[in-house]
Amino acid sequence: MTPGGEVVVALDVGGTGMKCALVRPDGATVHAERHATDAARGPEAVVGTILDVAEGLAGKARADGLTPVACGIAVPGVVDEAHGVAVWSANVGFRNVPLRELARTRLGLPTALGHDVRVGGLAEARLGAGRDAGHVLFVAIGTGIAAAHVVDGSAAAGAHGAAGEIGHILVRPDGPRCGCGRPGCLEAMASASAIGRRYAKLSGGAATAAEVADRAAAGEPLAGRVWREAVEALADGLATGQALFDVATIVIGGGLAQAGPRLFDPLRAALRERLTFHREPRLVAAALGDEAGCLGAALLALDTLAKESR
Ligand SMILES: [Zn+2]
Repeated sequence: MTPGGEVVVALDVGGTGMKCALVRPDGATVHAERHATDAARGPEAVVGTILDVAEGLAGKARADGLTPVACGIAVPGVVDEAHGVAVWSANVGFRNVPLRELARTRLGLPTALGHDVRVGGLAEARLGAGRDAGHVLFVAIGTGIAAAHVVDGSAAAGAHGAAGEIGHILVRPDGPRCGCGRPGCLEAMASASAIGRRYAKLSGGAATAAEVADRAAAGEPLAGRVWREAVEALADGLATGQALFDVATIVIGGGLAQAGPRLFDPLRAALRERLTFHREPRLVAAALGDEAGCLGAALLALDTLAKESR
């Protein structure tokens, strides 16, 4: 570590916890801390904690002889990155919070606000499993399913800040109802939560997606069926993604990627079956784990800094 080096204050705000770090311009984390989001307190209190934690990190940097040069904050939901506004979030309760301006005012640093999955994709594409691929589709599969399409290190946010909602591709018109209100979305078939729910409904017993994968591998027919149906739905969703984006690499992150070959082997085969003239992408597991969002927030802040100093 160079004394007096520059660092970025980075925060990844989730529904339950905030991952926070001081990150060097080369992507190395020099300090990390975690805080509870405690979203039940309401969005104003959460915003207060975000600003306090960011200010504390900037102070920590200075105390360590480092120079904080920018701040990056990632949040879930619908994010207007161009205006720095957290437009809407189901699990944190944001409604049109001008978070970028609030942080810029409090810290006195150039600040960027990003969407958690898009910045996670940015980090995987630039520093992680999609490095050197150029065109990357990052798909996070956990309680929901969301994606980021990254081209040459930059992720498109869409006209309304809502690009990448691959979880709401219609894959089974007669399937279970999705949280968005429509039946048959990919997320209602193949998210980790959906796999657990489906197995519970059919078996009458509770199991996590990881347990369903274990039981399927051990030869339990019902778990095998639920897992296979989820993998097939995912392959349908990814084939649509590939038809739209023609990427070199699909990076799968989130909790479900932990299933390893139990997910990737059948998913790769099912995706291959569905592609006709499209080129088959490399299908790989995310490399940065749950630090991707924080690193991505730092990268977004550095991009903003580079633009502002131009
Ligand atoms: Zn949906």
